[in-house]
Amino acid sequence: RMVRLRERLSRSGTIGRSILSVLSRETLTEEDWEEIEETLLLADVGIGPTTELMDRLRTRVQVLGSKDTATVRDILREELVQLVDPTMDRSLHTAKGVGDDGEPHPATVLVVGVNGTGKTTTVGKLARVLVAEDLDVVLGAADTFRAAAADQLQTWGERVGVRTVRSDREGADPAAVAFDAVRAGRESGADVVVVDTAGRLQNKADLMGELGKIKRVISRQAPVSEVLLVLDATTGQNGLRQAQVFADVVDVTGIVLTKLDGTAKGGIVIAVQRELGVPVKLVGLGEGADDLAPFVPEEFVDALLS
Ligand code: GDP
Repeated sequence: RMVRLRERLSRSGTIGRSILSVLSRETLTEEDWEEIEETLLLADVGIGPTTELMDRLRTRVQVLGSKDTATVRDILREELVQLVDPTMDRSLHTAKGVGDDGEPHPATVLVVGVNGTGKTTTVGKLARVLVAEDLDVVLGAADTFRAAAADQLQTWGERVGVRTVRSDREGADPAAVAFDAVRAGRESGADVVVVDTAGRLQNKADLMGELGKIKRVISRQAPVSEVLLVLDATTGQNGLRQAQVFADVVDVTGIVLTKLDGTAKGGIVIAVQRELGVPVKLVGLGEGADDLAPFVPEEFVDALLS
């Protein structure tokens, strides 16, 4: 997995490598530090975390007497891992529960985010991951706004061998579809129900109304276990602003950062966690069914530095 991560992050890998090469210079001038700062900002690390990292690196690297590359590398690695925050809970909560009525119910995962970020693809890949863990999965196609969305999800369902609950009516109530999906999951004794939602960024009040209703309706049958926000890593600060809108209207429990394979801006991992105060739990590393990986800070930083 590590090899694949490194391969897929080859573009982001330039961040770590170029910082390391500057840090390894015998004496560091103000221009050298500016070069490092620029690299971090260009990689979408964000101003706050960049300043923090710069301060810590200056403090630690400047006191080094003779400088060997291995020591500098260790310092940079430690500080980057710290910035990505290995203490956050990145596990997916997919355990079944038991309701007040004593009836078992599936875990429910709501997947939200702007259209085009890779939401439906992520639901498909996630189903694959859960199936590989021997879990019984049902998908809910609550993106009823785009007719093609339910077809796309169903295709993914067939590909990974799970059932998709959908409505044949375009424009059907998304909450009704989510309700049906969770009910189907309950009735069949499924472990996890994953619900895909529409990602129109209409006005904030509408979005809040729609996602709020879906959550309420699901909660009538089973508590919502996870709300995963999908964010396209290639969209930078703009994507971050859109993600913030979702985080404002629904309690996000984890971020899925997609298309990390297609960008040199891996620093967005740090920025988004800092902005939203929510951990990146999964990363998308390609378009294929197996291209979803758990996010492990140490592995990520090692890939950046390799
Ligand atoms: P949605 O509108 O948010 O549901 O987005 P889709 O799931 O339809 O994905 C939009 C496009 O992004 C599709 O062409 C996907 O194949 C592509 N995509 C999704 N995730 C990834 C990823 O992790 N890496 C790459 N390279 N492409 C991705």
